[in-house]
Amino acid sequence: MSTERIRAFLEEKQPATPCLVIDLDAVADGYRRVRDALAPARVLYAVKANPAPEVVRVLAAEGAGFDVASPGEIDLALDAGVRPDTLSYGNTIKKPADITRAYESGVRRFTFDSESDCDTLAERAPRSGVWCRILVDVPGAQTPFGRKFGCSPDLAVRLLRRAADAGLDVEGVAFHVGSQHVDPAAWEAGIASAATVSAELARHGVEIKSVNLGGGFPTRYRDDVPPLARYGEVIGSSVRRHFGRTPPELYVEPGRAIVADAGLIRSEVVLVSRKSDVDSHRWVYLDIGRYQGLAETEAEMIAYRLSTAHDGTADGPVIIAGPTCDGDDVLYQRTPYRLPLALRTGDHLDILSAGAYTASYASVSFNGFPPLATHVVGESR
Ligand SMILES: *Cc1c(COP(=O)(O)O)cnc(C)c1O
Repeated sequence: MSTERIRAFLEEKQPATPCLVIDLDAVADGYRRVRDALAPARVLYAVKANPAPEVVRVLAAEGAGFDVASPGEIDLALDAGVRPDTLSYGNTIKKPADITRAYESGVRRFTFDSESDCDTLAERAPRSGVWCRILVDVPGAQTPFGRKFGCSPDLAVRLLRRAADAGLDVEGVAFHVGSQHVDPAAWEAGIASAATVSAELARHGVEIKSVNLGGGFPTRYRDDVPPLARYGEVIGSSVRRHFGRTPPELYVEPGRAIVADAGLIRSEVVLVSRKSDVDSHRWVYLDIGRYQGLAETEAEMIAYRLSTAHDGTADGPVIIAGPTCDGDDVLYQRTPYRLPLALRTGDHLDILSAGAYTASYASVSFNGFPPLATHVVGESR
């Protein structure tokens, strides 16, 4: 449905390629699907997934809150009309000056994972609500976070006690399992740790109010993923098991699962070639690559569904690459892709479910190629 409307827009307007087209009604649908599947958790949309002002506006109208990571994202959200009390500064890596900016903008919820940041928050964002992020290193995320964020549960207990002593308003524990998580059980370990931290804090007279379960809910690219409702069920039963009759409020910070399906990238084939007469693979070079928005093809982590006007005709194996003079600007050489033998220079190639982590990752002008343009369609405009 949204793909049809996007294609109709592309046929009518023939915008320059490459470009991303977002169907705003599909963004609203994506929000409702995620909200319903993960209820009663409250939704804070992770702005970095797609920071287009139109997207932020639609989600604000739907009642979403927002996970922001910098003064730039705060300004973007406020400019789009978002109320500052619906923002949460979820980045644990922030300059003291950025905390001051956020506080002056009206942001009153923050996540931290270190003593230093805790003290800076107490000083520069007094009485704000705080989550302490714990490290949950669960395997299975297709774009994992490694050990960059979060602290051990023991340290989280100490830091949240410190936060309470310093006059901050203890929200509770946060964690993030990594993006595009295809195993609904991935949240189990974090919820168990959060319950341990909560029980330990209670013994010291500090009550947590909520657990922030982060993002990571997946989108179907080439491979099927479990339905979102399954994530809601597994999380719900895990919270009941670990927290019993006094469950905390829950928050989630989905990005990808809300916007990915709402976007399609139209690209153009620049060149189709073979490296030798006996080469089994054709090389297909597109006018979009790693630097114009397909950063998530790094290590071929995300394998997008592709579509051309020749679909259904005879095809053959291909290596797919971007247009820049960087040897790493190859999208797929290990992941087996096949494209129609009829594909020629000037043909369009569409990249599906491309609404998340594309335009926001595009470089300013590497090799003179402009960043990915975004167009929007839909009634919610
Ligand atoms: C990126 C990010 C998210 C969103 O992750 P998705 O995989 O897009 O759902 C949520 N929370 C935090 C802290 C993040 O950094």
